[in-house]
Amino acid sequence: MSDLPARLSVREVGPRDGLQNEDPVSTADKVELIDELGRTGLTRIEAVSFVHPRAVPQMADADQVWASIARPAGVRYSALVPNLRGAQRALAAGVRELEVVVSASDTHNRANVGRSTEQSLADIEELVALAHEHGASVQAIVATAWGCPYEGEVPLERVLWVAGRALAAGADGLSYGDTTGMATPGRVTRLVGQTRLAHPEVALNLHFHNTRGTALANVLAALQLGVADFDASVGGLGGCPYAPGASGNVATEELVHMVQDMGVDTGVDLDALLAVAARAEAIVGRTLPSQVLRAGPRTRRVDGAVE
Ligand code: ZN
Repeated sequence: MSDLPARLSVREVGPRDGLQNEDPVSTADKVELIDELGRTGLTRIEAVSFVHPRAVPQMADADQVWASIARPAGVRYSALVPNLRGAQRALAAGVRELEVVVSASDTHNRANVGRSTEQSLADIEELVALAHEHGASVQAIVATAWGCPYEGEVPLERVLWVAGRALAAGADGLSYGDTTGMATPGRVTRLVGQTRLAHPEVALNLHFHNTRGTALANVLAALQLGVADFDASVGGLGGCPYAPGASGNVATEELVHMVQDMGVDTGVDLDALLAVAARAEAIVGRTLPSQVLRAGPRTRRVDGAVE
């Protein structure tokens, strides 16, 4: 394990990927959750998405949330957009770090954003140009990169083709989304390896859901290849409203707990993060799947003390 990166950067996606799949919570609760996350040592937070309120009513207050959050030094805040209209709203709100999502699976893309993958890709060039005019960066997120709940297998060649198109359109970075937890470590190794061959310089971020219990194993497989940018959601909040059977992202505290014990620095204060995870549970009003939230860090003893 000596070849693991010294440092890993977590992008916290609970406020977006998490809360868009829960019963709507108040704007004040969202702002509180994001602000508490910003005090844990996390350096990247995906705060909102600028989607049509009819499509995702949980994100209808994106403008208000974006305008209300604290912005401590050293923390980058980003927003997800589904299309050019969303990017225009985000840029008008002052967002300077955008993520545009396109699914490798045509069926999922139609369910998610109402048009074909090809149509989404055709828009990305204009979207990237507009963002760059505003001094904003754009990361292309390729969803269903390891499979689709509607289509089943998504060929690796198809994923690489979509990623290549987005990068050719000028995207500044790339993220692969395992939208419904269909990745396993061998598949992660293959897709990351092929992506590196095709695009050796690209900044690569990975987004795993723990639907089938493989999320942390997938993170480890990617870490061993030197990938150091990962999405995670506090408490394991999350899912996807257009992906039947989807469950939450890998829990941020589970990821941080595991890699920090392996000598990989995340900059995150685990105790502070666990307190926010407990707060997230209270906000959404249900028990979240994070096992480290239940059991505590590995050194917690039965009397509750931590060595
Ligand atoms: Zn997701």
